[in-house]
Amino acid sequence: MKQIYLDNAATTKTSKAVIKAMLPYMDEIYGNPSSLHSVGQQAAEALFDARQRIAKRLGCTEKEIFFTSGGSESDNQAIISAAAIGERKGKKHIISTAFEHHAVLHTLEKLKRQGFEITLLPVSENGLITAKQVQSAIRPDTCLVSVMYANNEIGTIQPIAEIGEICREKNVIFHTDAVQAVGHVRVDVQKERIDMLSLSAHKFHGPKGVGALYVRKGIPLTNLIEGGAQEKGKRAGTENIPAIVGMAVALDEACGNMEKNARKLTKLRNMLIEGLSAIPHSVLNGEREKRLPANVSFCFEGIEGESLLLLLDDKGICASSGSACTSGSLDPSHVLLAIGRVHDIAHGSLRLTLSEENTEEDVRYTVKTVKEVVAYLRGMSPIWRDLVSGKKEFIIK
Ligand SMILES: *Cc1c(COP(=O)(O)O)cnc(C)c1O
Repeated sequence: MKQIYLDNAATTKTSKAVIKAMLPYMDEIYGNPSSLHSVGQQAAEALFDARQRIAKRLGCTEKEIFFTSGGSESDNQAIISAAAIGERKGKKHIISTAFEHHAVLHTLEKLKRQGFEITLLPVSENGLITAKQVQSAIRPDTCLVSVMYANNEIGTIQPIAEIGEICREKNVIFHTDAVQAVGHVRVDVQKERIDMLSLSAHKFHGPKGVGALYVRKGIPLTNLIEGGAQEKGKRAGTENIPAIVGMAVALDEACGNMEKNARKLTKLRNMLIEGLSAIPHSVLNGEREKRLPANVSFCFEGIEGESLLLLLDDKGICASSGSACTSGSLDPSHVLLAIGRVHDIAHGSLRLTLSEENTEEDVRYTVKTVKEVVAYLRGMSPIWRDLVSGKKEFIIK
């Protein structure tokens, strides 16, 4: 059976060009960039070249790019560094949002235990925050604003340039987790007044386990790993040259094809949204237009997301729910709760995230299959019976 992969927000397939570019750095150009001999220097050149190419795509200089192990590390590094700067000035208030990735939220929880005060801005029902909310929350002791560029579950894109403007004006460091945005929508750290930005290669057809943190010149980072002088001494350890080279190639490829891909993906996305909206008692999560070209997120009343995923997998569709299964207890997604979905509804979620490899045929099959599986699950559900008989009231009209 053909597999239809619709979980590109979780990870993407590494592009053929990326794999091809990486191979020599595992083979003949295997040197350590810190070595002075020619084999090492070839690797050092590749490292410099990758840094320059990534910087160019973000609109910064190569000195402002730090390589990391991925989005999670970049988020941790950015927030911990900004907090340390704040602490030295007696500023211990941080603003973020309720629907950030756990790499941000859990780092903030750690800081809270260390005496920082955290304001998590509420998110509107359509999955957006406003620059005004940020402005109102900034205090004299605010040291950091961290707002994600695009949400990983519901795909909504935040008004980053407006938030950047306010933070710059108020002299507060602005970090954005742009892991879902980079390579998919145009990002420019200068124009958008971003001070720190996290990205991860495997979300744009690069390899896993590598990412970058852009840090505006003059903002000192906290050492994350002690040891050698790599990454200006902020992150010791021999650089992952094959992965870094792969990330640069993946970003060039993604940015080079961005408009073409976005047109195709938006069309497929809208077909999916239209098709799934026809399911009774369903709701699209997140604003329809201000969303990533490849993201579709729905809640269906009277079903359980995990069963939906398993049945879809049986029929060749790889999808995701919004909900994370933590140690036996099924907690609904904090993102869906943040946009006001009640527990029962949040449990019936489905996230479909497309890639350029998907076709209209895939979309038609997916719409047809989701409709069938939702109807099948509802047919077996006692909750659905109560809803239909009027014993319980529908939440999604
Ligand atoms: C995937 C993701 C991360 C984590 O990135 P890793 O490279 O897997 O550590 C962080 N933030 C967002 C928004 C993501 O989608």
